[in-house]
This record gives sequence, structure tokens and C-alpha cells, in this order.
Amino acid sequence: HCYLEGLPLLYRKSVDTLSPYVPGFQPAMDGSVIKINSNENPYPPSPKVKELLGGFDFRQLRYYPDATSQPLRELIGAQHGLSSRQVLCGNGSDEVISLIFKVFFEQGDTVATPYPTYTFYKSVADIINVKVAFVDTAEDFVIDLQGLVNTGAKGIFIANPNAQTGRLLPLQSIEELLNRYNGLVVIDEAYIDFAGQQSSAVHLIGAYPNLIVLRTLSKSYSLCGIRVGFCIADESLIHAMDKCRDSYNVNHLSQIIAAAALSDQPYLETTVERVVRSRDKLEDELHKLGFTVYPSHANFLLCKPHQRSAADIYNYLKAQQIYVRHFDSPRLSDKLRISIGTEEEVESLLRHLRQYL
Ligand code: PMP
Repeated sequence: HCYLEGLPLLYRKSVDTLSPYVPGFQPAMDGSVIKINSNENPYPPSPKVKELLGGFDFRQLRYYPDATSQPLRELIGAQHGLSSRQVLCGNGSDEVISLIFKVFFEQGDTVATPYPTYTFYKSVADIINVKVAFVDTAEDFVIDLQGLVNTGAKGIFIANPNAQTGRLLPLQSIEELLNRYNGLVVIDEAYIDFAGQQSSAVHLIGAYPNLIVLRTLSKSYSLCGIRVGFCIADESLIHAMDKCRDSYNVNHLSQIIAAAALSDQPYLETTVERVVRSRDKLEDELHKLGFTVYPSHANFLLCKPHQRSAADIYNYLKAQQIYVRHFDSPRLSDKLRISIGTEEEVESLLRHLRQYL
């Protein structure tokens, strides 16, 4: 740690226990490698985004952006049959997650979440000394809802489909959870477009004032580079969050790009369909190669090889300039998580796997 000479420790002592976020592995972004390790969308964003940027008057950038992201909130509200007062936008859904912790939890509180899941919930909790109760999923990664409730936590975070596993929790189960739990329930729907809108907990907004649904433009809209996410919840929760967010938390370019992409629903449907078709094909082919493949409703597949170790396959693919994800955490260590690439990328991956196995 860093004591400055002659000064007391300037930061909170618990900061010493944290580490900065660095992506596991970040290969070149120039298309020269097959990068299927971060659940990015292999297709470009909507052509409406290109059109918009082509005609963009850079002089607008001397103005501050719309502080409340109001036009974007209105668009999102209208798309879900809700009011803009039930929507809040953030600099990626990660910022919205941080904001949720800041507004709803304090030092000593506990939040519960399944294990495995998106690791950022714990990263944020650690910063403000909120405890995280991890509730192990079943062998096939089914989430133990009663286990989550039994922790007595003040809030429950569920990524649906779940991060790392792709497993979808049916809407009915979320409703059952909300019927017996009064704490804050955050349903993180980063991957929901790949599962089908009918599975979204947005349909339960209005009926459950303790529910927050999180969304992002990073996955299905191919826009992780602009950092836009949002949440939908009861007006009273959104109002509380609005009081605690940064003044201009979503920049102007991100706001207008997000609006252009959200307005192009036919493009979203086409790219999502292509990704889902490739996912189903990759699942079949991995089965044929002897992998165990966990059922996924997201834009990635978690799988377990049997002929060779996950680590060996990871390294072999890496040497071929194909980057998949290999975790070293319990439950995931002998598995690979493969994001769905273009049809050509999936073919290339399969060709190399067939050669190696
Ligand atoms: N939630 C889940 C479950 C995710 O996997 C991710 C992306 N890694 C995020 C939220 C954050 O997405 P972003 O900050 O790009 O909106």
C-alpha cells in the first residue's frame, strides 16, 4: 500500500483490500483475431448509428449533454409502455449497478446473489463494505431462489439470463420470488434480448415496487463502446436514484447513438436472430465433439470439454488467435465460455477444435 511520506493514510483503509478492474485478456480490436471472450456482439451496431455520426455537427459538443438523459428516458419508457419517470440511464449498466449500491445499501448490509454470476456486484459491494452472500447454484446452474431468500439479505441481485452460465430463470419464478420477498430485487437483463422479450421482468414493473430491471445496449445492440445502460423501476426508486447520480452521467454522443440504435428494432431483431441461430448450431456441434454444453439463452455458451482439459483447449485456441474465456474460479475452472461470433468465426472455431481434439 501507499503511505505518502509525512502524511496520514489518505484513503479509506479498506481500499487496500481492493484491486483495480483489468479485463482478463484483451487482444487487438482490429479484427485480426477471433475475439469471442467478452460476450461482445460480432455484428456492427445499427446502420442508423453510422448515418447519425456521418451527419453529426461536432460543434454541439461544446454544450453539456441533457443532464437527465430525458429524450432517451422518454424513448425507453414509450417502448415499454411506461412513463419516463420509471426509467434512469447510466454510463453502462455498470454505473447503474454502482448507483443501486450507493442508494439502497450501506456498510454492514448484506446482498444475496447466486454463484456463479456477474462478478461486478461483489466488486461494488466491496468498495462500500456491503457483504455479499453467494448462494450456490445446483449442478446444472439452476438458481436456488429459496436459498437467496433464506440469507435474510436486504437485496437480491439476479442476472437473467445468468452471466457465465447463460441459464434463464423463467418469469414465473421471478414472480414467485417477488411474492415472498420484500427486499430490493434487481433483475439484470443484460442478455435478455437473446432469450426473448416475453421472459423479461419488465412486465412485472407496476405490480412490484421493490423490483429494478436493468438493461444495457452493450450486448444485443452492439454498443458496449458507448457505455449506455438503463434501469426500469417504480417512480419512487428512480427518483431516489436520480438524486444520487452524477450531474451529466451519460455523455451527449452516447445519448444520441443509443436513441438511434433503440429506434431501429428491425435491425436488433435481425442480429439477435443471427446470433441465436449460430448459438444453436455451435451447441449442436460442441455436443458432437463430446462437450457438455449448458443450456444458454444468452449470446455465449458455457461448456465442459472431456477429451482434453479446458486449459489446454484455451491455450491451443489462443495460439491460433482465437480467444475464448477460461475462468479459474470454482465451478467454472474446467469449463470454457465461448461468445457467439459471426457464422465464419463459429466455423473457424469448430475447424480448429476438430483438428485439436
Ligand atoms: N450485467 C451483466 C450480467 C453483464 O454481463 C455485463 C457485461 N459484462 C453488465 C451488466 C455490464 O454491462 P455494461 O456496463 O456494458 O452495460
